[in-house]
Amino acid sequence: MSKRDYYDVLGVGKDASKEEVKKAYRKLARKYHPDVNKENDAEDKFKEAKEAYEVLGDEQKRAQYDQFGHAGPQSQGFGGGFGGGAQDFGGFGDIFDMFFGGGGGRRRDPNAPQQGADLQYTMVLDFEEAIFGKETDITIPKEETCDTCNGSGAKPGTKVKTCSYCHGSGQLNEEQNTPFGKVVNRRVCHHCQGTGKIIPEKCTTCSGTGKVKKNKTIHINIPAGIDEGQQIRVSGKGEPGVNGGPAGDLFVVIQVKPHEFFERQGDHIYCEIPLTYSQAALGDEVEVPTVHGKVMLKIPAGTQSGKTFRMKGKGSPNVRGYGHGDQHILVKVVTPTKLTDRQKELLREFNDIGGHEKINEQESSIFQRFKKAFKND
Ligand SMILES: [Zn+2]
Ligand SMILES: [Zn+2]
Repeated sequence: MSKRDYYDVLGVGKDASKEEVKKAYRKLARKYHPDVNKENDAEDKFKEAKEAYEVLGDEQKRAQYDQFGHAGPQSQGFGGGFGGGAQDFGGFGDIFDMFFGGGGGRRRDPNAPQQGADLQYTMVLDFEEAIFGKETDITIPKEETCDTCNGSGAKPGTKVKTCSYCHGSGQLNEEQNTPFGKVVNRRVCHHCQGTGKIIPEKCTTCSGTGKVKKNKTIHINIPAGIDEGQQIRVSGKGEPGVNGGPAGDLFVVIQVKPHEFFERQGDHIYCEIPLTYSQAALGDEVEVPTVHGKVMLKIPAGTQSGKTFRMKGKGSPNVRGYGHGDQHILVKVVTPTKLTDRQKELLREFNDIGGHEKINEQESSIFQRFKKAFKND
């Protein structure tokens, strides 16, 4: 099988700049990476692009390729691995680490400023607290820069030295001879654990880490209308940065305890109230609890069980300040199970004077349809 031209694979011209080659590869890698593209030929296309980039992205290999074509790199025996069906494409994240230099760890310059880690704190709120918001202090154990050594990790009066094995890069190159030629492996320098620094005399407060765990109190302002699963970002309250980098952020994740009477969906609140048979038939005015206090609700005569009423603006405030939700009230007519003799007598009388038939005529209700269904059998 003849191999496609690497320039064709990446879709760039022979005179493409290094930047253009990189850009073209990045586009293809994003499109065909097996983690994101599940099409059958995606993996092959990804490998093909990777292989092309490994050659065209490297000045020396590109020059050889320009001169000798596909025969070039293999016959020259360098940079092993490509073309041999390399199985180990890194995770999707690795591609981005490679281009953007963040997060990957292995290729990172240990002396560059790094942002501190983000912290997450779960806060459990009562139903009403979520609706009305609150201000509170939380205490979290978090890392702080050690005051004794100002974060250097060295005993006061002593100095941090550059690691003489890796010369401060934090990485060691290891050469290996393989059938494909010399392969250079980069490993974390084990003399300095990848920090690039050696501390001859460690600070006794922090044991040379430059950081200490402290309980820190942080003031949190919870906005009214916050809901289950939402989070509040408190900028700069995460772990401290390294080498003068900025601190991470603190994320407060909200959990809301269920309420025994109310249920919430977005900004709307739902509840259910019981009505007696006579309240539903004759109408009434009932007291309904809302998170904003008790409100009188007019029940019109002839209210059916299962009807819902809406009280505008009696729900939760919108967390972004767009007004209030409503409260929806579902009424349920409760059939009495224990009746006194007198009550039974009155209900029988109600039946005898044709109370039920009247209902049926008026509303052609489910009762009548129910009766009809059985008449025909
Ligand atoms: Zn080292
Ligand atoms: Zn210290």
